[in-house]
Amino acid sequence: MKRVSLAIFSLVLAAGPARGAFNIASYYSPRNSERPPRNSTEYIILHTTEGPARGSLRKLHSRGEAHYFINTDGRVLRIIDKRRVAFHAGRSMWEGKTDLDNCSIGIELVGYHDRDITAAQYAALKELLRQLQEIYKIPDEKVLTHSMVAYGPPNVWHKRSHRGRKRCGMLFARDSVRRKIGLNRKPAFDPDVRAGRLINADGQLAMILYGREISPAAPAAAPTPGNAVILTAGKTAWDVARDRYNTAEVVYRFPDGKEIRGDRVTDWNRIPAGTVVVLGEAATENPVDAIRVIGRDGKTALEVAGEEYALATTVYFFPDGRVRRGDEMTPEDFKSLPVETRVLVGYVDGGYIKNGRSAFDICGPRWNRPDTYYRLADRSLVAGSGISETSIPRKTRVFFRN
Ligand SMILES: [Zn+2]
Repeated sequence: MKRVSLAIFSLVLAAGPARGAFNIASYYSPRNSERPPRNSTEYIILHTTEGPARGSLRKLHSRGEAHYFINTDGRVLRIIDKRRVAFHAGRSMWEGKTDLDNCSIGIELVGYHDRDITAAQYAALKELLRQLQEIYKIPDEKVLTHSMVAYGPPNVWHKRSHRGRKRCGMLFARDSVRRKIGLNRKPAFDPDVRAGRLINADGQLAMILYGREISPAAPAAAPTPGNAVILTAGKTAWDVARDRYNTAEVVYRFPDGKEIRGDRVTDWNRIPAGTVVVLGEAATENPVDAIRVIGRDGKTALEVAGEEYALATTVYFFPDGRVRRGDEMTPEDFKSLPVETRVLVGYVDGGYIKNGRSAFDICGPRWNRPDTYYRLADRSLVAGSGISETSIPRKTRVFFRN
């Protein structure tokens, strides 16, 4: 099976661009047919794979994480039907709207956020944008980069939800790059930071997105796969790895030589200066950042959930089995949060699934997303991507991102 699919990838990628004419080949994700239609299409969001073509295509294809994929040779592949929802934006916000997958088309280019794309990619992207903008009547200033719209929940370093979760697609904010893909206008500022809905956690990114043009030769200082970066007193694991800091894709090599993967770190407050951080290839566009653990991601509710700790959208799963929303907890509860309490930040408690109240009834197309969680009677939390709607056990409670 694995051999067969690798052969298909090689075939798809090796076929080369059709000479002269722009064309798109269909290479639909196995997820395509299960994705619901989008009700509106207001934005186009541009991404960079942050890894080489083959591995990136395999991941995007199997998970249905983009509508289009543009290889370095200019070949364009259809991964998800443009009328359906693709899971490309993850935790996202723009002009106060959240979950932009429901109102946007995602285009993924093989490349890196701080490197130029190829001449063939410029040509293909320009034509693809021209067609999509015409079909959906999307103005230039609504062609955005993933780094513009992605945001992160509070964490041990940021007390509020913040922009700067990733730098994906950053180069597509540069005036010189936009001109080459036929775009004359771009957003002048971050509407959600300006309105106070988010804080800005990456000044350099904001400068590149909205400031004056910076020469592409200027160092962007953001690590790419394979790079090793040394932590200093002022540089945190989040600064280096962003939304991947606590995943298995990142390795921390402590000054004493000990190595540990991001998903095994037990206390983010105790990563010493001098630790070397090695980024692997991005395994997914939007790592599931959702489940935080008291004792590991911070000692207190404030450290783990920031200023959102007492909101109805922060949910606590106690080791003894109790489940409480932040707004149901007393100051006393917060003072004595046990280690190993799991925390979801920015989530809606959808309540229990019952006869006549299905997962789809509760959270709509989000029911099978990897960041939707099912709390089973045995207290386990199962991701939506790992559950079958016809066999959800009784007494299951569902939580989905708001
Ligand atoms: Zn992206």
